Parts: sequence; C-alpha cells; structure tokens
Amino acid sequence: IGTIGVLTSGGDAPGMNAAIRAVVRTALSKGLKVKGIMHGYAGLLNEEFIDMGMRSVSEIIQRGGTVLYTARCLEFKEMAGVIKAHEICEKNGIDGLVVIGGDGSFRGAQDLSNVGTPCIGIPGTIDNDIACSEYTIGYDTAMNTVVEMVDKLRDTANSHSRCSVVEVMGRRAGHIALNTGIACGAAVILVPEQDFDPERDLLARIRYAQECGKHHFIVMVAEGVGKAEEIAQIIRDNTGIDTRKTVLGHVQRGGSPTLRDRVVATQMGYHAVELLTQNIGNRVVAMKNGEIVDYEINEALSMKKGIETKLLEIAHCISI
Ligand code: ADP
Repeated sequence: IGTIGVLTSGGDAPGMNAAIRAVVRTALSKGLKVKGIMHGYAGLLNEEFIDMGMRSVSEIIQRGGTVLYTARCLEFKEMAGVIKAHEICEKNGIDGLVVIGGDGSFRGAQDLSNVGTPCIGIPGTIDNDIACSEYTIGYDTAMNTVVEMVDKLRDTANSHSRCSVVEVMGRRAGHIALNTGIACGAAVILVPEQDFDPERDLLARIRYAQECGKHHFIVMVAEGVGKAEEIAQIIRDNTGIDTRKTVLGHVQRGGSPTLRDRVVATQMGYHAVELLTQNIGNRVVAMKNGEIVDYEINEALSMKKGIETKLLEIAHCISI
C-alpha cells in the first residue's frame, strides 16, 4: 500500500480534526502518502483531492468541525456510484481509505471495500450511537457543552422557581440525555430507549420532587422522545409550574474538542492506518473495555447497543 485517502462523512463531530491529523501523521511516518478528500463521498466522486504533508494538519487538533468538510451523497448510495469511486481511487493511486463518520458512512465504506478499495471506518458522531463501540469521537465534547449550557439555565430557573425543559440531541439514543441529566441534576430524564408515560415518568416525578421541597426543575429530554415545547406544555397544564423550553440544537455539534475526544481520535486514527498498512480493509475501529479494537464492518453494523441501565437506575434514585 503506497497512498491512502482520508475523508469525513455524515454529521460532523468535534474531534474529527484530531482523527484526520492522526491518520495523516501516522501514514506519513510509516512512509505512505496521504490524499485528503474534501466533502466526503461527494468529493471522492468529484476528485476533490489535496496532498497532505506533515504541516497540512498543523493547528487543527484543537478545532471543532472538520477541515475536510463533510457531506451527504446520494450518488454514493447506488452501486454505480461505488464502482465509480473505486475507479477514481485506482486512477489516483489511492490504495486504501479511512472514513470518519457514522453508520451510514460505514455502509458506504463496506460497499467500497467489497468492490476493491479497502476502507477502514472510524466512529465520529456526538450521539455515541454506534453499536460496536463504547465510545464515539465527539461524544465527550458534546456532553460538556450541554453541561455548560444547562448550568446557566439552572441559575435562572432557580432564581424564578421555574421548570426548564432542555431538548438535547439523540433521535434513537439517549446517552447524551442520560449522562448530562445526571451531571446537571435533572429531576427528570427522558430517553428514547424507554416508553414515555407522561403521568408516570414526568408529572409524578415532578410532584414528588415538589413534595421534597424542590422549587426549580430541570427536565432533560432526548429529541427522540418528543418536542421540548410539547413536554413543557404538559407540565404547565398539569402542575401550573412556570415552564420554559430550550432546544440546544447544533451548538452541541461544535466547539473545541475535549481532551478525551482528542486522545481517542488520535488512538483510532493511528489504529486505522495500522490496519491499512497490513492491507486489511472492510473494518471499523472501535473501543471495547477502554481498548482500541476493530470489527468487520458487517459485524459492526449488526451489533446492538442499549442504554446504560444501571445509570438510569441511579438517575431515578437520586433525581429528587
Ligand atoms: P452518518 O455516517 O453520520 O450515519 P449518513 O447516514 O448521512 O451519516 O451517511 C453519510 C453518507 O454515507 C451518505 O450520504 C452516503 O453517501 C453514504 N451512505 C449512507 N448509507 C449508505 C448505504 N446504505 N450504502 C452506501 N453508502 C451509504
């Protein structure tokens, strides 16, 4: 293997730059050449390549977003697009590819590996919703952003004896809501992995907290459970508590990556290049019991990951 490509795809996440940097520097130090591919698979199909040297990744480890930009690309979902991408790789001497993204991006990486360009996936998404890995790049930064924002909301909710409903990201996964809910002392945490019964899961808990003397409340809702405004309305209608909603939205995707995201991104980027140098493709890099491991993409995509049940239990016990 002589030259590898690196791209970021799907939703961006803080720490993607640290992963790009690790991929580039590891590859160069092992005597490989590296092409940065702009705008994900779309840029691959348009041959948007830049030659990466040791200095092309200077000053990016601390930056959020992705210097290679990201995109969603419909053409690449079709077999014709995948074959075209493989031909472009061959024409440009790209012998292997590192794809930093989520499950959708890994499906593309699997297809491309199957037609002859070995690809390695690195999990980059703030939601920590990639089943094969206990950690995804961006997760820690996103949660720290939520905690910082909710601490500010808490001050004002407290001053006015209000309830603050905070909607955080997570359509199918409640990891952000659960962990930040605990860290922010939420009275109620709602995650999509559990059925939501307004009386049992929301109103009863708020009334109980009220009986215990609480006069301001944080309700942490993962977006997959429902809209913050609807949940705020249920609280207003049934308790009379002055309730405001805040939808944190895309602030959660930005910002300078935390130490954890930088270090994990570096470890994963290094591991991805090590696999490619051994001519191994069609794999996803993952974390298991704190160690960096890898799985065949097909196996990785068929794995399941649940919410941390013990943590939910703890949250219910202490959120009063
Ligand atoms: P994420 O990687 O964050 O899950 P997406 O699901 O949007 O984000 O996927 C990113 C890109 O990966 C898509 O725009 C598409 O180019 C490619 N992709 C997604 N699903 C597939 C698929 N089933 N087959 C091939 N490529 C896919």
